Amino acid sequence: MFYPLHSSGISPERSTPRKIKTKNLGPSTVESPEKTQLSEHSDTVVAISTPPGFGGIGIVRVSGQGAEQIALTLLGDVPRHRIAKVCRFRDGQQGFIDEGVALLFKGPQSYTGEDTLELYGHGGPMVMDLLVERILSMGARAARPGEFTERAFLNGKVDLTQAEAVADLIESRTKAAAQAALRSLSGQFSSELFELDSKLGELRASVEADIDFADEDLSRLEPETIRAQIDGIVGALDKLLNRARPGSFLVSGAVAVLVGPPNVGKSSVLNALSGQDRAIVSARPGTTRDLVEVDINLNGVPLRLIDTAGHRASPDPIEAEGIKRANRAIAKADLVLVVSDDASTETYDLNMLENTETPVFILINKCDLTGQPYGEILKPAKSNRSFAISATQQEGLEELQDAMEGVFGKTGGAEAPFAARRRHLDAIQRAKHCLDATNSGVTSSAIELLAEELRLAQNILGEITGRGSTEELLGQIFSRFCIGK
Ligand code: GDP
Repeated sequence: MFYPLHSSGISPERSTPRKIKTKNLGPSTVESPEKTQLSEHSDTVVAISTPPGFGGIGIVRVSGQGAEQIALTLLGDVPRHRIAKVCRFRDGQQGFIDEGVALLFKGPQSYTGEDTLELYGHGGPMVMDLLVERILSMGARAARPGEFTERAFLNGKVDLTQAEAVADLIESRTKAAAQAALRSLSGQFSSELFELDSKLGELRASVEADIDFADEDLSRLEPETIRAQIDGIVGALDKLLNRARPGSFLVSGAVAVLVGPPNVGKSSVLNALSGQDRAIVSARPGTTRDLVEVDINLNGVPLRLIDTAGHRASPDPIEAEGIKRANRAIAKADLVLVVSDDASTETYDLNMLENTETPVFILINKCDLTGQPYGEILKPAKSNRSFAISATQQEGLEELQDAMEGVFGKTGGAEAPFAARRRHLDAIQRAKHCLDATNSGVTSSAIELLAEELRLAQNILGEITGRGSTEELLGQIFSRFCIGK
């Protein structure tokens, strides 16, 4: 099936601009996110929704009040709601740009909640560009990154965690990450948040009623009852955090840094951990002074392993630079793996890590030479966990990997994680702090304080789902989306 483009090869509207009557399409210039008011999203936007390059099919998406009129002008007919129609995409003169399939979704039964037109053409950059140019010439404007999803949020089709899950699903690097994103997208994360929000709301209503009728001789709320309810909500927030924290590692990936003196086997550990069934996604070797980074899939968690230059007690200036880089990597790490050689007395100075809150595992390597039994070396509580391994013999690594998975959270099972972001974890923690602060209100007569903390906690949870979101936050979230989503 081949249909020639218009003979001029470029959009005819460029050389012969022609006003096309459209129905209230709104401004045709691209507005900056700052200027756009949340309520003013009725203009019509267009973008290519498929990745750049050559492919079997390319999709152009149009959303807004003018979608139907654009369909009429472009196709000569308006497709019926949700019925695919094979048609020619007219070029505005006598020819046509492409032949493909058009789908019209009448709002609110569409992704964005507005009238949406999807055009499936041949997946070549020129065809797609000509189609977009043609639609822009009809008064639509180019969509900002994530604008279709932003409109879906503003029109109440999805909440903010679901909107974020759309991006997380698209960007997921492992199966577990994709599944976690789907859980959030289907509303599992938000429904837990809404449930907690309504529990907080009910409690707040009782507390406020108690304040309002304080002078009357009605039965008052018992402090134990309030405490029990707050404890219940805090417990639920903890559970939510336990599912959201591993979800944030799934979305953003985790980082483990290998440190230790030279020649203890850091590179060998990196190779051993990355060379197993858990596939290497990419490897970026540097020089000996540079950090060497390898991305691996640790049972679903995208994990970046960073091998650092060896730390010696009195390094030369070049080594000192390597150490600086290593320390910067440690500062950003989610796990530090300190490697030592069981057959050597040279060890890493653990005092260098005493200010970090990051978990530290000690890997006692080369145990094949010393006969030290492989596996975790159980030590008194509070000290760092230690593992006897042999990198070259691939011994003791399974137990180590299990422990590493424990740090990032299990990715499967009944309490499987939701795709989450740092801002979600931060908000849940802040809501918990508010509830901790209610102690004095429960036990003393400062019941107004209690009501205020409950209100704050409720608002903070609302930030996650987008109820109390600011334009700035929405700008931050949606600007990281790809164009056309
Ligand atoms: P790095 O400088 O700390 O990165 O250490 P390397 O990984 O380059 O290893 C230094 C040397 O120790 C190499 O010759 C490795 O083959 C050897 N080596 C590393 N791990 C082991 C191990 O588990 N057992 C034995 N016998 N040799 C090892």
